[in-house]
Amino acid sequence: MPTEKNGDGSLAWLRDRNRRRVMEVLRMQGRVSQADISRATGLSRTTVSTMIAELRKAGLVLDIDTRRIHPRGGRPGVELVLRDPTQVVVGIDFGHSHIGVAVADLGHNVLAERREDLDVNREAVAALDSAARMFAEVLARAGLERGSVLGAGIGIPGPVDLAHGTAGSATILPGWVGLRIASEMEQRLGVPVEIENDANLGALAELTWGAGRDCSNFAYIKAATGIGAGIVVDGRLLRGATGTAGEIGHTTLDEAGPLCYCGNRGCLETVASGPAIVDLVGLVDGERPSLGRVIELAAAGDLRCRRAIADAGRQIGVAVAGLCNIVNPERVIVGGLLSRAGEVLLRPMRDSIRRHAVQAAAATLDVRAAVFVERAELLGALALALLSSHDRLKTA
Ligand SMILES: [Zn+2]
Repeated sequence: MPTEKNGDGSLAWLRDRNRRRVMEVLRMQGRVSQADISRATGLSRTTVSTMIAELRKAGLVLDIDTRRIHPRGGRPGVELVLRDPTQVVVGIDFGHSHIGVAVADLGHNVLAERREDLDVNREAVAALDSAARMFAEVLARAGLERGSVLGAGIGIPGPVDLAHGTAGSATILPGWVGLRIASEMEQRLGVPVEIENDANLGALAELTWGAGRDCSNFAYIKAATGIGAGIVVDGRLLRGATGTAGEIGHTTLDEAGPLCYCGNRGCLETVASGPAIVDLVGLVDGERPSLGRVIELAAAGDLRCRRAIADAGRQIGVAVAGLCNIVNPERVIVGGLLSRAGEVLLRPMRDSIRRHAVQAAAATLDVRAAVFVERAELLGALALALLSSHDRLKTA
Protein backbone atom coordinates (compact mmCIF):
# COMPACT_ATOMS: atom_id res chain seq x y z
CA MET A 1 0.00 0.00 0.00
CA PRO A 2 1.47 3.37 -1.00
CA THR A 3 2.35 5.78 1.80
CA GLU A 4 2.55 9.53 1.82
CA LYS A 5 6.33 9.32 1.88
CA ASN A 6 6.32 7.37 -1.33
CA GLY A 7 6.90 10.12 -4.02
CA ASP A 8 4.65 9.45 -7.07
CA GLY A 9 2.79 6.85 -5.06
CA SER A 10 1.56 9.44 -2.60
CA LEU A 11 0.20 11.61 -5.40
CA ALA A 12 -1.62 8.64 -6.91
CA TRP A 13 -2.91 7.63 -3.48
CA LEU A 14 -4.20 11.15 -2.87
CA ARG A 15 -5.89 11.28 -6.24
CA ASP A 16 -7.46 7.89 -5.65
CA ARG A 17 -8.70 8.93 -2.21
CA ASN A 18 -10.19 12.18 -3.58
CA ARG A 19 -11.85 10.33 -6.40
CA ARG A 20 -13.44 7.89 -3.97
CA ARG A 21 -14.75 10.80 -1.89
CA VAL A 22 -16.25 12.47 -4.96
CA MET A 23 -17.86 9.18 -6.03
CA GLU A 24 -19.24 8.71 -2.54
CA VAL A 25 -20.92 12.14 -2.56
CA LEU A 26 -22.43 11.34 -5.96
CA ARG A 27 -23.64 7.97 -4.71
CA MET A 28 -25.11 9.32 -1.50
CA GLN A 29 -26.71 12.49 -2.83
CA GLY A 30 -27.81 11.21 -6.21
CA ARG A 31 -27.85 14.53 -7.98
CA VAL A 32 -25.39 17.28 -7.09
CA SER A 33 -23.62 20.29 -8.54
CA GLN A 34 -19.84 20.62 -8.57
CA ALA A 35 -20.17 23.28 -5.84
CA ASP A 36 -22.11 20.79 -3.65
CA ILE A 37 -19.32 18.22 -4.09
CA SER A 38 -16.71 20.81 -3.19
CA ARG A 39 -18.60 21.71 -0.01
CA ALA A 40 -19.21 18.08 0.98
CA THR A 41 -15.63 16.89 0.46
CA GLY A 42 -13.74 20.02 1.46
CA LEU A 43 -11.81 19.73 -1.82
CA SER A 44 -11.12 22.87 -3.84
CA ARG A 45 -13.37 23.66 -6.77
CA THR A 46 -10.41 23.20 -9.12
CA THR A 47 -9.70 19.71 -7.75
CA VAL A 48 -13.38 18.75 -8.02
CA SER A 49 -13.57 20.12 -11.52
CA THR A 50 -10.52 18.08 -12.63
CA MET A 51 -11.93 14.98 -10.95
CA ILE A 52 -15.33 15.38 -12.61
CA ALA A 53 -13.71 15.92 -16.00
CA GLU A 54 -11.90 12.57 -15.56
CA LEU A 55 -15.06 10.77 -14.41
CA ARG A 56 -17.01 12.27 -17.30
CA LYS A 57 -14.33 11.14 -19.75
CA ALA A 58 -14.49 7.63 -18.29
CA GLY A 59 -18.28 7.67 -18.83
CA LEU A 60 -19.00 7.39 -15.11
CA VAL A 61 -20.96 10.61 -14.59
CA LEU A 62 -23.72 12.29 -16.51
CA ASP A 63 -24.73 15.97 -16.72
CA ILE A 64 -28.37 16.85 -16.12
CA ASP A 65 -29.67 20.19 -17.33
CA THR A 66 -31.74 21.16 -14.29
CA ARG A 67 -33.32 24.17 -15.98
CA ARG A 68 -35.40 21.59 -17.84
CA ILE A 69 -36.53 20.08 -14.55
CA HIS A 70 -36.78 23.03 -12.17
CA PRO A 71 -36.85 26.05 -14.49
CA ARG A 72 -37.24 28.48 -11.63
CA GLY A 73 -35.79 26.43 -8.82
CA GLY A 74 -32.81 28.72 -8.31
CA ARG A 75 -30.48 25.72 -8.49
CA PRO A 76 -27.34 25.61 -10.61
CA GLY A 77 -27.89 24.96 -14.30
CA VAL A 78 -26.07 21.65 -14.45
CA GLU A 79 -25.99 18.84 -11.92
CA LEU A 80 -24.23 15.51 -12.06
CA VAL A 81 -25.37 11.94 -11.53
CA LEU A 82 -23.44 8.70 -11.57
CA ARG A 83 -24.06 6.89 -14.75
CA ASP A 84 -25.30 3.40 -14.37
CA PRO A 85 -26.00 1.47 -17.55
CA THR A 86 -28.44 -0.75 -15.67
CA GLN A 87 -30.86 2.11 -14.89
CA VAL A 88 -33.34 2.81 -17.66
CA VAL A 89 -36.74 4.32 -18.42
CA VAL A 90 -39.51 3.03 -20.71
CA GLY A 91 -41.83 4.98 -22.99
CA ILE A 92 -45.19 3.56 -24.15
CA ASP A 93 -47.20 5.26 -26.88
CA PHE A 94 -50.83 4.24 -27.42
CA GLY A 95 -51.90 5.65 -30.80
CA HIS A 96 -55.42 5.23 -32.22
CA SER A 97 -54.26 2.18 -34.17
CA HIS A 98 -50.78 1.25 -32.91
CA ILE A 99 -48.68 0.75 -29.79
CA GLY A 100 -45.02 1.78 -29.56
CA VAL A 101 -42.69 0.81 -26.72
CA ALA A 102 -39.06 1.90 -26.25
CA VAL A 103 -36.43 1.64 -23.53
CA ALA A 104 -33.72 4.29 -23.04
CA ASP A 105 -30.79 4.74 -20.67
CA LEU A 106 -30.19 7.85 -18.59
CA GLY A 107 -27.83 9.12 -21.26
CA HIS A 108 -30.95 9.37 -23.47
CA ASN A 109 -29.93 6.54 -25.78
CA VAL A 110 -32.78 4.36 -27.09
CA LEU A 111 -31.67 0.75 -26.44
CA ALA A 112 -34.61 -1.14 -27.97
CA GLU A 113 -37.93 -0.28 -29.57
CA ARG A 114 -41.04 -2.11 -30.84
CA ARG A 115 -44.18 -1.08 -32.69
CA GLU A 116 -47.35 -3.09 -33.35
CA ASP A 117 -50.66 -2.30 -35.06
CA LEU A 118 -53.84 -2.71 -33.01
CA ASP A 119 -57.28 -1.10 -32.78
CA VAL A 120 -56.36 0.72 -29.57
CA ASN A 121 -59.56 2.82 -29.45
CA ARG A 122 -61.86 -0.18 -29.22
CA GLU A 123 -59.69 -2.80 -27.56
CA ALA A 124 -58.44 -0.93 -24.51
CA VAL A 125 -57.75 -3.92 -22.25
CA ALA A 126 -56.08 -5.86 -25.08
CA ALA A 127 -53.96 -2.76 -25.72
CA LEU A 128 -52.81 -2.63 -22.09
CA ASP A 129 -51.96 -6.36 -22.19
CA SER A 130 -50.06 -6.00 -25.47
CA ALA A 131 -48.10 -3.04 -24.09
CA ALA A 132 -47.11 -5.10 -21.02
CA ARG A 133 -45.89 -7.94 -23.27
CA MET A 134 -43.95 -5.49 -25.47
CA PHE A 135 -42.44 -3.92 -22.34
CA ALA A 136 -41.01 -7.33 -21.39
CA GLU A 137 -39.81 -7.86 -24.97
CA VAL A 138 -37.89 -4.57 -25.25
CA LEU A 139 -36.24 -5.21 -21.87
CA ALA A 140 -35.20 -8.70 -22.98
CA ARG A 141 -33.86 -7.33 -26.24
CA ALA A 142 -31.80 -4.74 -24.35
CA GLY A 143 -30.59 -7.47 -21.95
CA LEU A 144 -32.16 -5.80 -18.91
CA GLU A 145 -34.21 -6.87 -15.90
CA ARG A 146 -37.44 -5.23 -14.78
CA GLY A 147 -35.63 -4.04 -11.63
CA SER A 148 -33.54 -1.69 -13.80
CA VAL A 149 -36.58 0.33 -14.86
CA LEU A 150 -36.93 3.59 -12.90
CA GLY A 151 -40.32 4.35 -14.41
CA ALA A 152 -42.49 4.39 -17.51
CA GLY A 153 -44.08 7.30 -19.37
CA ILE A 154 -47.36 6.46 -21.11
CA GLY A 155 -49.15 8.43 -23.82
CA ILE A 156 -52.80 8.10 -24.84
CA PRO A 157 -54.43 9.80 -27.85
CA GLY A 158 -56.94 11.87 -25.90
CA PRO A 159 -57.27 14.03 -22.81
CA VAL A 160 -56.04 12.56 -19.53
CA ASP A 161 -57.78 13.04 -16.20
CA LEU A 162 -54.70 13.38 -14.02
CA ALA A 163 -56.59 13.10 -10.74
CA HIS A 164 -57.98 9.66 -11.57
CA GLY A 165 -55.38 8.40 -14.04
CA THR A 166 -58.16 7.82 -16.59
CA ALA A 167 -59.04 8.98 -20.10
CA GLY A 168 -60.64 12.41 -19.68
CA SER A 169 -63.27 12.20 -22.43
CA ALA A 170 -65.83 9.54 -23.19
CA THR A 171 -66.34 10.77 -26.74
CA ILE A 172 -62.69 10.88 -27.80
CA LEU A 173 -61.66 7.43 -26.51
CA PRO A 174 -64.94 5.54 -26.01
CA GLY A 175 -63.32 2.15 -25.32
CA TRP A 176 -61.26 3.55 -22.47
CA VAL A 177 -64.05 4.97 -20.29
CA GLY A 178 -63.61 4.16 -16.61
CA LEU A 179 -60.31 2.37 -17.15
CA ARG A 180 -57.74 3.42 -14.54
CA ILE A 181 -54.88 3.41 -17.00
CA ALA A 182 -52.12 4.42 -14.59
CA SER A 183 -52.89 1.83 -11.92
CA GLU A 184 -53.71 -0.90 -14.48
CA MET A 185 -50.32 -0.33 -16.11
CA GLU A 186 -48.48 -0.11 -12.78
CA GLN A 187 -49.90 -3.52 -11.90
CA ARG A 188 -48.90 -5.02 -15.24
CA LEU A 189 -45.42 -3.49 -15.40
CA GLY A 190 -44.45 -3.43 -11.73
CA VAL A 191 -42.86 0.04 -12.11
CA PRO A 192 -44.13 3.59 -11.42
CA VAL A 193 -45.95 5.11 -14.41
CA GLU A 194 -46.98 8.60 -15.52
CA ILE A 195 -49.61 9.24 -18.19
CA GLU A 196 -50.04 12.17 -20.57
CA ASN A 197 -51.97 12.99 -23.72
CA ASP A 198 -50.31 12.82 -27.15
CA ALA A 199 -50.01 16.59 -27.75
CA ASN A 200 -48.32 17.12 -24.38
CA LEU A 201 -45.89 14.30 -25.19
CA GLY A 202 -45.11 15.87 -28.57
CA ALA A 203 -44.36 19.11 -26.72
CA LEU A 204 -42.06 17.27 -24.29
CA ALA A 205 -40.19 15.56 -27.15
CA GLU A 206 -39.65 18.93 -28.86
CA LEU A 207 -38.65 20.55 -25.54
CA THR A 208 -36.12 17.84 -24.74
CA TRP A 209 -34.60 17.08 -28.16
CA GLY A 210 -36.34 19.03 -30.91
CA ALA A 211 -37.53 22.46 -32.06
CA GLY A 212 -38.17 23.66 -28.49
CA ARG A 213 -34.75 22.87 -26.99
CA ASP A 214 -33.64 26.50 -26.85
CA CYS A 215 -37.05 27.88 -25.95
CA SER A 216 -38.96 27.85 -22.65
CA ASN A 217 -42.28 29.35 -23.82
CA PHE A 218 -43.86 27.65 -26.79
CA ALA A 219 -47.05 26.02 -28.02
CA TYR A 220 -46.80 22.69 -29.79
CA ILE A 221 -49.73 22.02 -32.11
CA LYS A 222 -50.40 18.43 -33.11
CA ALA A 223 -52.41 18.49 -36.33
CA ALA A 224 -53.40 15.04 -37.55
CA THR A 225 -56.63 13.03 -37.18
CA GLY A 226 -57.40 15.38 -34.29
CA ILE A 227 -55.91 18.73 -33.33
CA GLY A 228 -54.41 19.32 -29.90
CA ALA A 229 -51.90 21.64 -28.25
CA GLY A 230 -49.15 21.08 -25.69
CA ILE A 231 -48.34 24.39 -24.02
CA VAL A 232 -44.94 24.93 -22.41
CA VAL A 233 -44.66 27.89 -20.02
CA ASP A 234 -41.31 28.65 -18.36
CA GLY A 235 -39.97 25.26 -19.44
CA ARG A 236 -42.87 23.27 -17.99
CA LEU A 237 -46.00 21.74 -19.43
CA LEU A 238 -49.17 23.65 -18.66
CA ARG A 239 -51.64 20.97 -17.60
CA GLY A 240 -54.50 22.96 -16.11
CA ALA A 241 -56.76 22.05 -13.20
CA THR A 242 -57.66 18.56 -14.44
CA GLY A 243 -55.07 17.95 -17.15
CA THR A 244 -57.08 18.97 -20.21
CA ALA A 245 -55.27 22.24 -21.03
CA GLY A 246 -54.56 22.58 -24.76
CA GLU A 247 -57.77 21.10 -26.23
CA ILE A 248 -57.52 23.60 -29.06
CA GLY A 249 -59.29 21.28 -31.53
CA HIS A 250 -62.57 21.97 -29.77
CA THR A 251 -62.30 25.76 -29.95
CA THR A 252 -65.58 27.07 -31.42
CA LEU A 253 -64.97 28.82 -34.74
CA ASP A 254 -68.59 28.92 -35.89
CA GLU A 255 -71.46 28.69 -33.42
CA ALA A 256 -73.81 27.54 -36.16
CA GLY A 257 -71.25 25.25 -37.79
CA PRO A 258 -71.46 21.47 -38.20
CA LEU A 259 -71.89 19.24 -35.14
CA CYS A 260 -68.63 17.94 -33.69
CA TYR A 261 -68.30 14.49 -32.10
CA CYS A 262 -67.60 16.30 -28.79
CA GLY A 263 -71.22 17.53 -28.79
CA ASN A 264 -70.53 21.17 -29.69
CA ARG A 265 -70.92 22.92 -33.01
CA GLY A 266 -68.34 24.43 -35.33
CA CYS A 267 -65.22 23.21 -33.50
CA LEU A 268 -61.83 23.68 -35.20
CA GLU A 269 -61.71 19.91 -35.78
CA THR A 270 -64.89 19.99 -37.87
CA VAL A 271 -63.07 22.06 -40.51
CA ALA A 272 -59.32 21.45 -40.13
CA SER A 273 -58.74 17.89 -38.86
CA GLY A 274 -57.31 15.21 -41.16
CA PRO A 275 -60.76 13.70 -41.92
CA ALA A 276 -62.22 17.20 -42.58
CA ILE A 277 -59.45 17.93 -45.12
CA VAL A 278 -59.96 14.56 -46.81
CA ASP A 279 -63.75 15.18 -46.98
CA LEU A 280 -63.13 18.56 -48.59
CA VAL A 281 -60.86 17.06 -51.26
CA GLY A 282 -63.39 14.32 -52.04
CA LEU A 283 -62.63 11.35 -54.28
CA VAL A 284 -59.26 11.09 -56.04
CA ASP A 285 -59.24 8.59 -58.94
CA GLY A 286 -62.54 7.23 -57.61
CA GLU A 287 -61.20 6.61 -54.08
CA ARG A 288 -61.23 8.44 -50.77
CA PRO A 289 -57.55 9.39 -50.27
CA SER A 290 -55.67 9.15 -46.96
CA LEU A 291 -54.40 12.37 -45.37
CA GLY A 292 -50.87 11.27 -46.31
CA ARG A 293 -51.94 10.97 -49.95
CA VAL A 294 -53.53 14.44 -49.90
CA ILE A 295 -50.23 15.86 -48.55
CA GLU A 296 -48.26 14.05 -51.31
CA LEU A 297 -50.60 15.38 -54.00
CA ALA A 298 -50.31 18.91 -52.57
CA ALA A 299 -46.51 18.65 -52.69
CA ALA A 300 -46.79 17.55 -56.32
CA GLY A 301 -48.79 20.71 -57.10
CA ASP A 302 -52.42 19.48 -56.99
CA LEU A 303 -54.39 22.72 -56.59
CA ARG A 304 -57.40 21.22 -54.81
CA CYS A 305 -55.24 19.46 -52.20
CA ARG A 306 -53.12 22.59 -51.71
CA ARG A 307 -56.23 24.69 -51.17
CA ALA A 308 -57.76 22.23 -48.69
CA ILE A 309 -54.55 22.19 -46.61
CA ALA A 310 -54.12 25.98 -46.84
CA ASP A 311 -57.69 26.54 -45.66
CA ALA A 312 -57.08 24.20 -42.73
CA GLY A 313 -53.90 26.19 -41.95
CA ARG A 314 -55.90 29.41 -41.92
CA GLN A 315 -58.52 27.96 -39.57
CA ILE A 316 -55.90 26.49 -37.22
CA GLY A 317 -54.31 29.95 -37.26
CA VAL A 318 -57.53 31.53 -35.96
CA ALA A 319 -57.56 29.21 -32.94
CA VAL A 320 -53.79 29.57 -32.42
CA ALA A 321 -54.19 33.39 -32.47
CA GLY A 322 -56.54 33.09 -29.49
CA LEU A 323 -54.01 30.90 -27.71
CA CYS A 324 -51.24 33.45 -28.46
CA ASN A 325 -53.31 36.26 -26.98
CA ILE A 326 -53.65 34.30 -23.76
CA VAL A 327 -50.27 32.59 -23.20
CA ASN A 328 -47.99 34.72 -25.44
CA PRO A 329 -45.60 31.98 -26.61
CA GLU A 330 -42.29 32.79 -28.26
CA ARG A 331 -42.71 29.99 -30.79
CA VAL A 332 -45.44 27.81 -32.29
CA ILE A 333 -44.16 24.36 -33.23
CA VAL A 334 -46.44 22.49 -35.60
CA GLY A 335 -46.29 18.68 -35.50
CA GLY A 336 -48.52 15.75 -36.40
CA LEU A 337 -48.88 14.25 -39.88
CA LEU A 338 -50.33 17.48 -41.33
CA SER A 339 -47.05 19.29 -40.56
CA ARG A 340 -45.53 17.20 -43.38
CA ALA A 341 -47.29 19.66 -45.73
CA GLY A 342 -44.67 22.26 -44.69
CA GLU A 343 -45.17 25.78 -46.03
CA VAL A 344 -48.43 24.84 -47.81
CA LEU A 345 -49.84 24.68 -44.26
CA LEU A 346 -47.55 27.05 -42.34
CA ARG A 347 -47.72 30.14 -44.57
CA PRO A 348 -51.51 30.57 -44.36
CA MET A 349 -51.32 29.70 -40.65
CA ARG A 350 -48.80 32.53 -40.07
CA ASP A 351 -50.95 34.99 -42.06
CA SER A 352 -54.02 34.04 -40.11
CA ILE A 353 -52.28 34.32 -36.71
CA ARG A 354 -50.99 37.77 -37.67
CA ARG A 355 -54.48 38.79 -38.73
CA HIS A 356 -56.30 37.56 -35.63
CA ALA A 357 -53.87 37.87 -32.69
CA VAL A 358 -53.04 41.14 -30.95
CA GLN A 359 -50.08 42.70 -32.67
CA ALA A 360 -47.78 42.47 -29.62
CA ALA A 361 -48.32 38.69 -29.37
CA ALA A 362 -47.89 38.02 -33.09
CA ALA A 363 -45.07 40.44 -33.97
CA THR A 364 -42.13 38.30 -32.87
CA LEU A 365 -43.85 34.90 -33.03
CA ASP A 366 -41.88 32.19 -34.79
CA VAL A 367 -44.06 29.50 -36.43
CA ARG A 368 -42.13 26.43 -37.55
CA ALA A 369 -42.51 22.71 -38.21
CA ALA A 370 -41.70 20.16 -35.48
CA VAL A 371 -38.58 18.00 -35.66
CA PHE A 372 -40.46 14.79 -34.79
CA VAL A 373 -43.58 13.50 -36.51
CA GLU A 374 -43.97 9.69 -36.47
CA ARG A 375 -42.03 9.08 -33.21
CA ALA A 376 -43.03 12.29 -31.40
CA GLU A 377 -45.31 10.60 -28.84
CA LEU A 378 -42.96 7.68 -28.14
CA LEU A 379 -39.99 10.02 -27.60
CA GLY A 380 -42.21 12.28 -25.50
CA ALA A 381 -43.17 9.28 -23.35
CA LEU A 382 -39.46 8.61 -22.77
CA ALA A 383 -38.91 12.29 -21.91
CA LEU A 384 -41.82 12.13 -19.45
CA ALA A 385 -40.32 9.04 -17.81
CA LEU A 386 -36.87 10.69 -17.63
CA LEU A 387 -38.32 13.83 -16.07
CA SER A 388 -40.44 12.04 -13.52
CA SER A 389 -37.75 9.53 -12.56
CA HIS A 390 -35.08 12.11 -11.78
CA ASP A 391 -36.28 12.12 -8.21
CA ARG A 392 -36.08 8.35 -8.04
CA LEU A 393 -32.51 8.14 -9.32
CA LYS A 394 -30.48 5.75 -7.22
CA THR A 395 -26.78 5.47 -7.71
CA ALA A 396 -24.88 2.23 -7.62
ZN1 LIG B 1 -65.59 19.54 -30.76
